[in-house]
Amino acid sequence: MSARQAPCLVSACLAGRPCRYDGRAAPHPEVMEWLARGLALPVCPEELGGLPSPRPPCELRSGRIVDALGNDHTEAFVSGCKLGLEAALAAGCREAVLKARSPSCGVGEIYDGAFSRRLTKGNGLFAQALMNVGISVRRDEDV
Ligand code: SF4
Repeated sequence: MSARQAPCLVSACLAGRPCRYDGRAAPHPEVMEWLARGLALPVCPEELGGLPSPRPPCELRSGRIVDALGNDHTEAFVSGCKLGLEAALAAGCREAVLKARSPSCGVGEIYDGAFSRRLTKGNGLFAQALMNVGISVRRDEDV
């Protein structure tokens, strides 16, 4: 991580928040250290969109966010993305470390929308929104 004033935006689950779909956290040692030093800004776009934890797992399918029963959660995901992006820009974030394969936070590969655990190329909605404004994004697995 480069030395800079602005915090690194991180998926909140990596910073120890139990905000995943299964109600658990996914603490990442380096992210936890940044957090302790005041160098990380934890954001969970799905919680910001008003979704509870736990919640049904969702995948991106043809531009929509759906759960395994076909219920459409796109509006909540998009709303949370906007709020998360606003928080990142307000804090001056220039880089982000995001949880791999999430329909919001995934970078480079996500589940393919069939709920069969198959991966396809693509970015989660939040990851893509951050990239669109020039924020440098990495997967937690690459940190
Ligand atoms: Fe973690 Fe992102 Fe999923 Fe929230 S939306 S639980 S921050 S991977």
